[in-house]
This record gives sequence, structure tokens and C-alpha cells, in this order.
Amino acid sequence: MKVTYICDRCGALIGALSLTEDELQQIGVDILTVDLHEDIIKSAETGALFIYSLCDHCVEAIPLHEEEWFFRRKPNVH
Ligand SMILES: [Zn+2]
Repeated sequence: MKVTYICDRCGALIGALSLTEDELQQIGVDILTVDLHEDIIKSAETGALFIYSLCDHCVEAIPLHEEEWFFRRKPNVH
């Protein structure tokens, strides 16, 4: 399954990977429960996943003091 990482803050394309279902689960994405993450992961009709994360630039720009940014959006970030 093709997985595309997009920066949630600036919209930059971070990268694209091709992962198996097992590999997806290893990074915390269970496609069987993908609805739980529907705000950050969009499943296109092509079957591709888009994971909204933060690019290196934005990670450095945002003084996050938590390590949970990967799958969590701060409600007041925008
Ligand atoms: Zn960014």
C-alpha cells in the first residue's frame, strides 16, 4: 500500500513509502480501524493512504514538548 506523508502544518510532501499491512501496523496504522484516524489519514479511492504529520522544518519550528505529535494534532495549532 502506498503511503504518502504530508506536512499537516505547511502542506509539504514529506515522502512516500510503499508499506505492507504488517509494516503499517508497526508504525501504528491499523487499516482495519483506520476510521479512528480519519482526521489524519485519508484513504483515497486508489487505496493510497495519506498520513498527516510534520516535516522536519515544522518540527523544528514548533516547540513541542511532547512526543505524541505524530498521530496527534493540537486543537489550537491553526
Ligand atoms: Zn511543514
